[in-house]
Amino acid sequence: MATSTITLKAQCLCRAQTFTATVPVSSLPLKGSSCHCTSCRHVMGALRSSDAVWPGPRENIVTAADATAAAAKGDDGAPVLKRYAHSPRVNVLFCGRCGSGLFFEEWENADEVRQFPDKASYLVFTGVLSVEGEQNKSQSSPLPPVVRFEDHMFVGDTLDGGAACWLRGMNGEGQPATRIWLGRRNKSEEVPLGTIWPALENQPTYEVNLKEVEVEKGTVPIRCHCGGIDLVLHAGEAQREYAEKQRRGEELPWFVDPVTHKLLGSLDACDSCRIAGASEVYTWTFAQLKYISFAGADPCGFPENTTQLRAAISTKESRDPRFGEISFYASSSDVQRYFCGRCSATLFYAVDERPDIVDVAVGLLDSPDGARAESALAWSFVKKMGSRNDMIATWREGMLYAVEKELEEFRIGRGYPKSWRRIALEQAEEAAKSQ
Ligand SMILES: [Zn+2]
Ligand SMILES: [Zn+2]
Ligand SMILES: [Zn+2]
Repeated sequence: MATSTITLKAQCLCRAQTFTATVPVSSLPLKGSSCHCTSCRHVMGALRSSDAVWPGPRENIVTAADATAAAAKGDDGAPVLKRYAHSPRVNVLFCGRCGSGLFFEEWENADEVRQFPDKASYLVFTGVLSVEGEQNKSQSSPLPPVVRFEDHMFVGDTLDGGAACWLRGMNGEGQPATRIWLGRRNKSEEVPLGTIWPALENQPTYEVNLKEVEVEKGTVPIRCHCGGIDLVLHAGEAQREYAEKQRRGEELPWFVDPVTHKLLGSLDACDSCRIAGASEVYTWTFAQLKYISFAGADPCGFPENTTQLRAAISTKESRDPRFGEISFYASSSDVQRYFCGRCSATLFYAVDERPDIVDVAVGLLDSPDGARAESALAWSFVKKMGSRNDMIATWREGMLYAVEKELEEFRIGRGYPKSWRRIALEQAEEAAKSQ
C-alpha cells in the first residue's frame, strides 16, 4: 500500500540548514510560482526566483533567523540563517556559510513587518526542496511532481522574456502549462499560450546581432541586489580577442561561439547548482577572469586566476574593499562557489582544473537588451542539459525532458545554429552507427 505521508526537506548546500515538513501525499503538488523581476534576478543570480508555500512548521525557521540576528558580529563558525531585506515587506533567508537561499519571509504589507512579526508567511525556494530518500535513486519511474509551477510573474521586467521562454512546460508532458504574466498574476497582461514571447519577433536574431556587436563597447555590469557585488564583464573585448585568435588559426575555448565569438549561455541540471542557486535549471555563462574587472573609477587589479581570487577574498586584514561582500564556499576540495555574503546572490562557480575561467551567474548581468543579455551571450544550447542524470528518477524528471524540448524550440525559433560541440557529438554518433 502506498504511504500516505511524505517528508519534504529544505536543505542548503553545506547542510548546516535543514528544515523538514511531513505532509499527506494527497496535499501535493504544492503550488509553485516563479518571479522574474529585476530584484529577484539580482538577489538570486538566477534568471528567476521560484517558491512555494512552506508546508512545515515555521517556529524553527524563525528561531534560527532570530538567533543569527541577535548573535554578536564575531564569527564563531556557528551555522547562521541570515536575513536580507529584499523589499520593505519581504526578507530572503539564506545560509550564511554556503549562500543557498532557503525562504522568503513575507508580509501582506510593509506596515505589518514591525507591528506583527508573527504574521509573516514562509515560502520555500523550490531549488532547495527535496523528498527524503529521493537521493537513493532506486525508483524505476519518476516520482509524482512535488511542485506544480502555476505561473511566471513580472516577466515584463526581463524585456526579452528571460528564462520564461524555456520554462512554459516545466511541469512536464501532459501537465498544465505555466502561465506567463508581464507583472503580477491576474493584475497584468498575460502572454497567451502558444506565444513564446511577444517582443521576440521584433528583436534582432542571432544573424543580425552578429553585425551589431562589432561596434559595441560590450561591457556588462555584474551586480547583486545589495550592491555588495559590483563588477564588470568585458564581453566586447573578449569577443574581439577571440575573433582575432580564430583569424590566427588558434583554437577557441569551448565556451565561445565560433561564429559570433560571444560567450555561450548555458542551462545546468546539476543538483549542487540547483541547491546553491535555489532554483531549478540554473543559468550560467563562462568567462576568463582577465575579462572581469572591478566597477568604478579604479577597475584594475581584479585577480586573473581563481587561486589569487580565493586568497584575496580570504584575507581578513587589509582585504581590498572593492571585493565588497563577495564570499565563497568550497563545496568540494576543488570547487568554490562565490556569492554575496549580504544578500545571498550567487556569483561564480570555480573549479581548480581551470583556474583562469569562472562560470558567471547570468541573473547578475545588467544588460540593456534584456535578462538573457543576447548582445553579449549566445544561447545555442546543446540538446541535452549538463548533469541531466541528477534530475532523472527524481520528481523533476518530467521537467528535464520538457525543458530540453523547449530549449530546442527556442534555439530554432531564435535562429541559433547548433553548437559546435553538439555537431561534433552528432557526427560521432553517426559514425558509430554506420560502422
Ligand atoms: Zn549552508
Ligand atoms: Zn521578484
Ligand atoms: Zn549582495
